[in-house]
Amino acid sequence: TQAFLARAEAHAALGAFLHLDRDGALAAAQAADAARAAGQAGVLTGVPLAHKDIFVTADAPTTAGSKMLAGYQSPFDATVVARLKAAGTVSLGKLNCDEFAMGSANENSAYSPVQNPWDRTRVPGGSSGGSAAAVAARLVPAATGTDTGGSIRQPASFSGLTGIKPTYGVCSRYGMIAFASSLDQAGPMARSAEDCALLLSAMSGFDERDSTSAQRPPQDFHAQMLAPREGASAAKPLQGLRIGLPKEFFPAALAADVDGAVRAALAQLEALGATLVEVSLPRTELSIPVYYIIAPAEASSNLSRFDGVKFGHRAANYTDLLDMYKKTRAEGFGPEVKRRIMIGTYVLSHGYYDAYYLQAQKLRRMIADDFQRCFQQCDVIAGPVAPTVAWQIGAQGDDPLQAYLADIFTLPASLAGLPGMSVPAGFGAHGMPVGLQLIGNYFQEGTLLQAAHALQ
Ligand code: GLN
Repeated sequence: TQAFLARAEAHAALGAFLHLDRDGALAAAQAADAARAAGQAGVLTGVPLAHKDIFVTADAPTTAGSKMLAGYQSPFDATVVARLKAAGTVSLGKLNCDEFAMGSANENSAYSPVQNPWDRTRVPGGSSGGSAAAVAARLVPAATGTDTGGSIRQPASFSGLTGIKPTYGVCSRYGMIAFASSLDQAGPMARSAEDCALLLSAMSGFDERDSTSAQRPPQDFHAQMLAPREGASAAKPLQGLRIGLPKEFFPAALAADVDGAVRAALAQLEALGATLVEVSLPRTELSIPVYYIIAPAEASSNLSRFDGVKFGHRAANYTDLLDMYKKTRAEGFGPEVKRRIMIGTYVLSHGYYDAYYLQAQKLRRMIADDFQRCFQQCDVIAGPVAPTVAWQIGAQGDDPLQAYLADIFTLPASLAGLPGMSVPAGFGAHGMPVGLQLIGNYFQEGTLLQAAHALQ
């Protein structure tokens, strides 16, 4: 813990941490030492990590990357935080992210951008950009993230890490500041599939305080990852695994460096015993408009609670209640959050609901059905995580559409609620990391981790 704290302090310029809790971390590390001395240590006892600042924490402030929650102190821990604490992990503090997790580059944080440790002029990805930079720079061995439309997988890909977004419902959303509730999922970001498996086992499980929590017995993802496949050998651990390659995930417009790195990883999976089959996800492109209707619609509703009354920022001067609401929200939210609230209220409004929101919901169902057709031909779906490597900080200027379009390969699994993973697949242009995406059927995290582990 001391070594990681020292690194985090030395590399503060990366912008990864929004809050470093030196005293809290040292106290927790001492408690972990005592547990070990008493023979009560588990596999995660004393392991330092840090949490995306979208999880509320009782011993550190929570901002969700927004000025709206500057100085906000939660009275309780998110379930994911509480479970990792109970497993003996030591939290070093809270990690930078896009405001309310809306973004793909951490450039929408109200506090600071985050530098990619592989090239500090480039973004680490987002919205879990602080988590990605912190793990990539070895400021912590692992971090929590959240993924609504790719925010674990894409920053893991941009920063050379392994990250997994489990099936919707596997991790409790209690205490995770809501962006789009039907899509939000927590997950770990770490150096390897093995570390992710250990963390996910501790973070996940049924929680009666989240009505969408999956009612399943506790899972040992590490054991699932290591379970030998039928007919497998040491040289061919993935014997019999059918990997589907959706042709829509390899369009002509895919950057050649990303295409090359992903295909090299696929060849490696083949050498490990897997077979590759072509499949089709015909509505891949439609996942962009569908997501950018549904996510803002839910966000506009979720963010209505930030009104200056219950918590967070309140405007200093106002004439009446309505004026207080207006000034508070005008001051507290950044431009991307305001854009999404306006899109969301528009697509939900009378006269437009049927044309936009309802259509998007129907397409969402069709996208989920497309995946089920694919899973009749394969066990795992593979492709790129993102169409390019990490871009230069500021390169996208004021064009939000560019960032939205770059989410094309992560959005389909999010809309379907399927587990998805990013695994390092070598390097592309400018020496930047490229991620291979693996998508599984519902609750098939073990299979994803197994394939990723074999590659590592
Ligand atoms: N980039 C997507 C967005 O801006 C996804 C973000 C996320 O997964 N939290 O909404």
